[in-house]
Amino acid sequence: MSDVPTYEFRCKACGSTFDVKRSMDDASAPAPCPNGHDDTVKLLSMAGLSGKADAPATGGGCCGGGCCG
Ligand SMILES: [Zn+2]
Repeated sequence: MSDVPTYEFRCKACGSTFDVKRSMDDASAPAPCPNGHDDTVKLLSMAGLSGKADAPATGGGCCGGGCCG
């Protein structure tokens, strides 16, 4: 795979959000804020998920537990 995942981070110091492209091996590594802060948290990646949000959850494990209603 040549696609590098994009991870979204939010800086707890200044509140800005920024995207970081990195390999999955480094997904959980801390990323410095563009403004120079180190106190950042990784958000759930929204980039690259467009078009998949409406995909039906198949494979079981969901409706069997009653969580689907
Ligand atoms: Zn910052």
